[in-house]
Amino acid sequence: MQNISVIGAGTMGNGIAHVFAMKGFKVQLIDINESTLDKAIATIGKNLDRMVKKERITAADKESTLNNIASTTDMKSGVAKADLVVEAATENKELKLKIFSQMDELSPPECILATNTSSISITQIASVTNRPEKVIGMHFMNPVPVMKLVEIIRGYATSDEVTQKVVDLSQKLGKAPVEVNDYPGFVANRILMPMINEAIISLHEGVAGVEEIDTVMKLGMAHPMGPLQLADFIGLDVCLSILKVMYEGFGNPKYYPCPLLVNMVESGNLGMKTGVGFYDYSDGPRNAVVADNFKK
Ligand code: NAD
Repeated sequence: MQNISVIGAGTMGNGIAHVFAMKGFKVQLIDINESTLDKAIATIGKNLDRMVKKERITAADKESTLNNIASTTDMKSGVAKADLVVEAATENKELKLKIFSQMDELSPPECILATNTSSISITQIASVTNRPEKVIGMHFMNPVPVMKLVEIIRGYATSDEVTQKVVDLSQKLGKAPVEVNDYPGFVANRILMPMINEAIISLHEGVAGVEEIDTVMKLGMAHPMGPLQLADFIGLDVCLSILKVMYEGFGNPKYYPCPLLVNMVESGNLGMKTGVGFYDYSDGPRNAVVADNFKK
């Protein structure tokens, strides 16, 4: 396996391209927006600079990593030679079904089609292709260059051979793959999202403020980041989409998204990627302060 195409160059797509390129794979990074692609390449460059500064890689490693990445807005040429496609586009079921049906048509027949979805059914995504045995979940964690886990999700039809190839590949990337089955939210988000939602409900009900809630979870439960800051980091739109998939998928009211989360997404305050969520990131992530709306 040598040629990897990554669809979607947002928060996750640029990190996925980064880790594959750093291990010598040839990466085609694909997005519908030219400006997103430019921003993604600049982000990868900045993240590599940080690694050079920390002496984790050399300047030559940085150059060869960037040379391994090409970017395009044309899906057809972008997946034409792919051995593996990792789809990391917006968390929206209709969009993913459309992308998978296109990828099935445009990529070589032997190509494995993976999705980085946080919650959407792999089995359903596979059903729009003519190769459901080659469709699999490859759920990287954010930030991809730092986090070790890759949740490997087998759809109903995913073959043993494809699962093994993706497990081996994840290990080659220096990641720790964990195999799970295909149910809404898989394991990571089935456990994480109810916690984040409960933190937002606690804020909404006035149990405590943003900093108090995050401090309780950081100092009391040894979490490296509080749940509200983590939600900002993931993207509030992504959190809402995942909760909706679990709410619909299980039909259980415990996954009902907090109305405050819904309002924040509708107002366009999506967290770090838009500059404001529960915190304000105007002075950079390290200097985040509680957003005006939540100041006491
Ligand atoms: P994002 O909003 O940052 O980026 C999504 C990108 O997809 C955008 O750049 C958009 O232009 C692009 N896109 C939309 N339609 C496209 C198309 N038809 N073809 C090509 N590109 C298209 O989202 P994200 O946070 O990077 O999430 C991407 C996926 O990764 C989602 O499925 C999400 O659930 C999953 N995920 C996110 C996180 C996280 O912490 N944000 C963690 C794990 C998994």
